[in-house]
Parts: sequence; structure tokens; C-alpha cells
Amino acid sequence: MRFTPQDEEFRAAVRAWLEASLTGEFAALRGAGGPGREHERHQDRLAWNRHLAAAGWTALGWPAEFGGRGLSLARQVIFHEEYARAGAPARVSIVGEELLAPTLIAFGTPEQHRRFLPPIKAVTELWCQGYSEPGAGSDLASVATKATLDGDEWVITGQKIWTSLAHVADWCFVLARTEPGSARGQGLSYLLVPMHQPGVTVRPIRQLTGTSEFNEVFFDGARTAAAHVVGRPGDGWQVAKATLTFERGAAMLGLQVGFRRDLENLLNAARRDGTAADPITRDKLARAWIGLEAVRAYALDTLGGDDPTQASVLKILWSRWHQRLGELAMEILGAESMTGHDDWQRLFLFSRAETIYGGSDEIQRNIIATRALGLPRPQTKTP
Ligand SMILES: Cc1cc2nc3c(=O)[nH]c(=O)nc-3n(C[C@H](O)[C@H](O)[C@H](O)COP(=O)(O)OP(=O)(O)OC[C@H]3O[C@@H](n4cnc5c(N)ncnc54)[C@H](O)[C@@H]3O)c2cc1C
Repeated sequence: MRFTPQDEEFRAAVRAWLEASLTGEFAALRGAGGPGREHERHQDRLAWNRHLAAAGWTALGWPAEFGGRGLSLARQVIFHEEYARAGAPARVSIVGEELLAPTLIAFGTPEQHRRFLPPIKAVTELWCQGYSEPGAGSDLASVATKATLDGDEWVITGQKIWTSLAHVADWCFVLARTEPGSARGQGLSYLLVPMHQPGVTVRPIRQLTGTSEFNEVFFDGARTAAAHVVGRPGDGWQVAKATLTFERGAAMLGLQVGFRRDLENLLNAARRDGTAADPITRDKLARAWIGLEAVRAYALDTLGGDDPTQASVLKILWSRWHQRLGELAMEILGAESMTGHDDWQRLFLFSRAETIYGGSDEIQRNIIATRALGLPRPQTKTP
């Protein structure tokens, strides 16, 4: 990916807007939120996110006919890089804006576009992703949550788990089995379900970090309109897979600028306490820097492509890199890391999740083995 002089002008405009806007009531929000820190100042970040929306900084990649800015991939990358560089607070709108909206644009009806896209763009409705279940994670096609039509409504019963931000979401896109007796990817539907109703119970799950960003979600006769199915009933698997491909987008680059800040903070800590003079620590810090350069180069080279193995390679590269950085931080801080240093502890602990969510490392390697290397599918041994 190459940035033109006009792109660089756009970069300057984004940077100036962020500098001017992260002041006053928003100044204290710098650095708030993000992976492992979603509990931080949710209401204030919601207000900031609405401020972004009002200034036209949401829906950047949606085509103009759907109310978006229709920005090129390069400009989306620039926005996210500058956003992370400015330390702007993590957005609360990501699931709706970057996962559901592109799915709706590709598969939804004009009525669904009119009903659901504007509140996503304005950040007046927040979404969560109801895929995983206790018996269906990596093996998502085992989804057992059921939905049946009752007049002009779907009635949903079942349990979802690990549902990020369900406790603050207004709506959930739910993968449910709508054809009794169907198996695997057949007979599933992609339903849009309101969270604020009697048939929905959200229970927080406490994470390693001590906070609760994800939840169990129980649907017990929950209801949604018959028209709130994306794609044809029974075709939900295709729609669900499309959403998974949108999980990787330009925002990925922003994540890496956040990583650069983590690395710079660690370099500063090592300089301060003198460990930067130790040859082995210097070697590890230099390797960390090289690793991040490789992640960024690979991301810029492959972003926007449609080869799923590249997405898998990138996921493994960045998640492993971030975990190693957390481990290096613990090494550099030594025993001190166990007291104080909340941010480093959180990075070290939360980065465990990064090789699980969005498809675990093993699943990514299976994809690479099968699709890139042409190896046979793994044998499952029955006892
Ligand atoms: C922080 C976080 C946020 C999440 N947010 C959401 C969310 O918002 N919505 C949502 O629906 N889900 C969410 N998830 C769930 C996530 O998608 C699943 O955890 C993930 O897909 C793995 O599924 P599982 O936990 O059931 O593990 P399992 O699938 O049971 O896997 C257990 C272990 O077995 C390995 N394994 C499984 N199958 C194979 C195989 N075929 N070959 C080799 N190894 C295998 C896995 O790699 C893993 O190490 C989130 C998870 C995390 C950690």
C-alpha cells in the first residue's frame, strides 16, 4: 500500500482534528479503553464516539449510498494510525460499525439498511456478536441455539458465551438453528435480536485481568421480528462467515500503532531502570522492534486482499508478537511487575486472549496448512 501526497494531506487533517478535539472534557480520555480495558469510562467513551460520529468520523469505509464516507483503504488505514497515535480512546462502536454494517450492506434488505445503518453510524445503538456457545467455539457449525417462527416473530432459545460487550449492547446478531434436525452449516439463520427484553439474560464472566468484558447470554423465548433475518432463513452460515472476514480490516493497522506505543513505553522503562544497557535485554528489545516492523509491513502488503491464509498469517504474527512483548515487560520489570504496573500486568494477562479470539492459533495454522500448503485435513481419532 502506498500513500499519495493527497493521502498525506488527509493524514494532516485527521491529526489536526484529533489534536483539537481531544481537549476539554475529552482530554482525560486519552488512552482509555481497548483490549483488556473495555471497562474504562464507557459512558464518556460513548459520548466521545458520538462526537466522532457528528464530525463525520464513523462509517469511513461504508459506500456513500449507504451513508458512509466511502474512503479508500489507504485513508482508512491513515485514520486508524493517527487515531492510535493520538492516544484517542478506544471506540465503543466497533462491533456494529466494522462487523455488522459491512455484513448488512452485503446481505441485508433495503429496509434493514434504513432501519439499522443510521443508528450504527450515529452510535446510538451498540451491537454484540452472538456466535460462540459452550459447545460451539472453534467448531462454530455446532451451534445449537434454536429459533422458530411464531407468526411474524422469531422466538429464540439457547445460550451464547464469551459475548464481548453484551452488557452494554442494545442489539445482538445471533447465529441460530432455524431448521429442526439440520446439522453443521445447514439450517442456520443470522438474526438481529434486541437485547433489552425479558427473554434475554446477560451474566458477566470474570476474566484473568479481574474485569469482565465478555458475558454469558441466555435467550429464553426472546423475540425478534420475522423480517430481522439477514440473508435467507437457513443461509446464515454464509452470512456468518462473511462477518468473520470483516473482522480483519483497516482497524488492524490502528491496533499495531497501539502496539508501537506499548513498545515505546517498554523501551522508556528499560532506559529508566538501566536494563537497556544489558546486552541480552537490548537484543530482545531490538528483536521486538524488528517483529513489529514485520507485522506492519505484512499488514500493509496484504490488507484488502481476499486470501484467507494471509489473514491467518497476520493474526498469528500480531497476537504472538504482543504476547511476547508482555512477557518481555514482565522480565524487564522483574519482581516489581507483581506489585503496581497495572498496565503491563493487564497487557501480559489480556494478551493470552489474543491467540484465542477471532480464531485460535491452532485454527489459523489449520487454515494455513490446508489452504496454503495443500496438506490434507487433520484426522480426528475416535477413541
Ligand atoms: C477476549 C475474547 C472475546 C471474545 N468475544 C466473542 C464475541 O464477542 N462473540 C463470540 O461469539 N465469541 C467471542 N469469543 C469466543 C471466541 O471466538 C472463541 O473463544 C474461540 O473461537 C475458541 O473457541 P472455544 O473458546 O470454544 O475453544 P475450543 O474451540 O473449545 O478450543 C479449545 C482448544 O482446542 C483447540 N482446537 C479446537 N479445535 C481444533 C482443531 N480442529 N484443531 C486443532 N486445535 C483445535 C483450540 O485451538 C483451543 O486451543 C471471544 C473470546 C475471547 C477470548
